[in-house]
Amino acid sequence: MFKINDNYLKLPGSYLFSTIGKKVAAYTAANPDKEVIKLGIGDVTLPLAPAVIKRLHSAVDEMAVKETFKGYAPDLGYEFLRTTIVENDYKARGCDIAADEIFVSDGAKSDSGNIGDIFAVDNKIAVCDPVYPVYVDTNAMAGRTGVYNPETEKWSDVIYMPCTKENNFVPELPKEEPDIIYLCFPNNPTGTTITKDQLQVWVDYALKIGAVIIYDAAYEAYISTENIPHSIYECEGAKGCAIELRSFSKNAGFTGTRLGFTVIPKELKCGDVMLHSLWARRHGTKFNGAPYIIQAAGAAVYTDEGKKETKEQIAYYMNNAKIIRDGLTGAGYEVYGGVDAPYIWLKTPDKMTSWEFFDYLLENLNIVGTPGSGFGPSGEGYFRLTAFGSLENTKKAMERIKAGKA
Ligand code: PLP
Repeated sequence: MFKINDNYLKLPGSYLFSTIGKKVAAYTAANPDKEVIKLGIGDVTLPLAPAVIKRLHSAVDEMAVKETFKGYAPDLGYEFLRTTIVENDYKARGCDIAADEIFVSDGAKSDSGNIGDIFAVDNKIAVCDPVYPVYVDTNAMAGRTGVYNPETEKWSDVIYMPCTKENNFVPELPKEEPDIIYLCFPNNPTGTTITKDQLQVWVDYALKIGAVIIYDAAYEAYISTENIPHSIYECEGAKGCAIELRSFSKNAGFTGTRLGFTVIPKELKCGDVMLHSLWARRHGTKFNGAPYIIQAAGAAVYTDEGKKETKEQIAYYMNNAKIIRDGLTGAGYEVYGGVDAPYIWLKTPDKMTSWEFFDYLLENLNIVGTPGSGFGPSGEGYFRLTAFGSLENTKKAMERIKAGKA
């Protein structure tokens, strides 16, 4: 008789977005005349940039011709993309990363979930709280997180590092020593960032205790403030302790097109074993490459045209972020994030819980956001709005906030 991986049975239900969906559907059904504005989504809404579309078309045409047709992609990704990434994302920022340290993939979600494959089950993980749920859930599936306590909403074997306004949403070094540390900056859901000096503290700590940092830089393109690192490899020594995850989803709108990459420097070792070799083996065995046409389109993001157009898209979203920040601040809310990230994290007023505030916004202002408690216990009392909506809807939502009614 076969057996299942019963770690899956330990996972609590993922109620956040389904509960939101159900509440919104019920409200809309009962109030068909109301126009509900959705500022809860973490997905982009602008179409792909013209330079990307142009390259997608030409790459499709290449697939129709015997001489230029491409089959399986190389394991690590096409050289043309990996060298372009190195030149633009690393060399240009003074980071000494080589093209063969880049592993092209279908996105940061799969990489952040799959990276656990190369680590032993008895490693202890540390995560920020609140957190992008994929890090915890995928470790739970692997049997690395112990027992889930529904009352505290915590796993027994996970080190939670609270990120609240008290510590400016930058975690303190944990008291208990972790083996694997997940950091994500600019952060989802808080929309806040970390300075280079603060990140250096984490790199020094990881090197000292022999931990590995999994650094999710999916929102790097949204950074506009100086002295905020775009890559963890801007910190000294990071090549000896950090893996970096990157995505084309939020910088170039590839959420539905799928492209990302993971960086594993060759000097990152456990004893004398290179993590690079383990991930290369894993990638070669379980992944057959991101499609040629998508990798070609990814390279187009780095052309002059592509850079200009994607920058304009980010500016569009960040203008929305500013409108939300200003609108909320003007209405007396305590607001965080939204400067170097497309997420705005606000403190719920009058000690409302995150879900009470969700209901208040939906029913009174017809605005949908995401309750902070859905991202972890320290998210209670906070609420996330995103800048990925249209300018028109964003402005309309802030008019409602200002008026205190829909
Ligand atoms: N990492 C973070 C922190 C995210 O918020 C998201 C998506 O919302 C991802 C990774 C997923 O990226 P991708 O679309 O490349 O899988």
